[in-house]
Amino acid sequence: MYDVNSKCADEFISHEEILETLAYADENKENTALIDAIIEKAKKRKGLTHREASVLLACPIEEKNQEIYRLAEQIKKDFYGNRIVMFAPLYLSNYCINGCTYCPYHAKNKHIPRKQLTQEEIRREVIALQDMGHKRLALEAGEDPVRNTMDYYLESIKTIYGIKHKNGAIRRVNINIAATTVDNYRLLKEAGIGTYILFQETYHKESYLELHPTGPKHDYNYHTEAMDRAMEGGIDDVGLGVLFGLDKYRYEFAGLLMHAEHLEAAFGVGPHTISVPRLKHADDINPEEFDNGIDDETFLKIIACIRIAVPYTGMIISTRENKSCRERALHLGISQISGGSRTSVGGYYEPEPEDESSEQFDVSDNRTLDEVVRWLMEMDYIPSFCTACYREGRTGDRFMSLCKSGQIQNCCHPNALMTLKEYLMDYASPETRAIGDKLIDREVLNVPNEKVRNVVLENLRLIEQDNRRDFRF
Ligand code: SF4
Ligand code: SF4
Repeated sequence: MYDVNSKCADEFISHEEILETLAYADENKENTALIDAIIEKAKKRKGLTHREASVLLACPIEEKNQEIYRLAEQIKKDFYGNRIVMFAPLYLSNYCINGCTYCPYHAKNKHIPRKQLTQEEIRREVIALQDMGHKRLALEAGEDPVRNTMDYYLESIKTIYGIKHKNGAIRRVNINIAATTVDNYRLLKEAGIGTYILFQETYHKESYLELHPTGPKHDYNYHTEAMDRAMEGGIDDVGLGVLFGLDKYRYEFAGLLMHAEHLEAAFGVGPHTISVPRLKHADDINPEEFDNGIDDETFLKIIACIRIAVPYTGMIISTRENKSCRERALHLGISQISGGSRTSVGGYYEPEPEDESSEQFDVSDNRTLDEVVRWLMEMDYIPSFCTACYREGRTGDRFMSLCKSGQIQNCCHPNALMTLKEYLMDYASPETRAIGDKLIDREVLNVPNEKVRNVVLENLRLIEQDNRRDFRF
């Protein structure tokens, strides 16, 4: 029985409700009166239900799809302006006792090199990341209760926040680790994490059980209810995601939105972010062995439909996707991207020899952070290294009320410009800096509030002339 408020995964992600949703979407996918009504509702920027969004996703009418894309682009502009938040993943360990059939870190893979970074190695990696210009990290690790303990994570987070190298600092540490207990989530919160990220992989329970044949992750309910426990433990920024390609995308899409609706209903806060990874080639993983791969057009439509269904939720795309796909995805709703990423354990300080690769997946976008930043600016985006909300305590519902008040333009835009200026001063190549300085000169005029604008101008001067850092609203 479907119950959005239930604490049981089988009820808030009800299989029957998803099947009924898909049948409803099929029946109505060419019902232009209904589609127009849903688009009109979406224009109010209050979001859509999983049923409504599923009708749009199923709709094959080209003219309506163009309208959906235009609306997604407009909502993206209204909520996020032309800012794109930058981050990098940091792999701590690829030891894993699970048997996920789509990931090369699965326990039966005996030939991939296994590594766990020591605190000294973490220091080296973080200094290398700081020297690229990163301020926001997403920690990644496999599940291994003996090696990858909570104490190890807590110590690693402390190490990372403690590293001050030249003008560098990691100001927000997000973490993507296995489902755990309320008490452990509380410890992570106390350690100062930003977002707790956990991909569902697939919402289809039967497929989930087959794709996770062994290890603690086999427990679908424990995994699916993890965000509830995280929120009970005080983490109010959580990041959802499915791995597109494992099961049917329309099923996953409905499940993902039902999960978001559940968090909103049960805790009053929807997901902080949604990630949209697609299955990619990796050591001993061939994506062609999975039947549900999606092409670029479908992938982009999913992104557009998520954008209009949950306008307040940030959307993340990684270097799994290549430059041209990332470019189109940015227009349709993506608000955060990684740059200069290494998906191996320890690849920032010293690149791994090719025959000893510990990568989780092949990276399709191999550009440096400087190249990604320049590319974004050439398309008139503002790469932002802002981490202000988390550091000002604006998480969970406080963050959401900032979004809903419309004041985000007076916060995010200036913060983006000031953190970009820091990046240009400390890390950019001369060519990137020249493009960035011109962009900042233009964009500072778009700060709506005059008082705020004058403060930003003064802060930009202090960053450039007095080597001052870390201004924020
Ligand atoms: S997806 Fe995560 S849990 Fe599964 S094998 Fe890979 S690292 Fe382990
Ligand atoms: S001000 Fe807050 S919402 Fe805006 S970019 Fe910075 S951290 Fe994100």
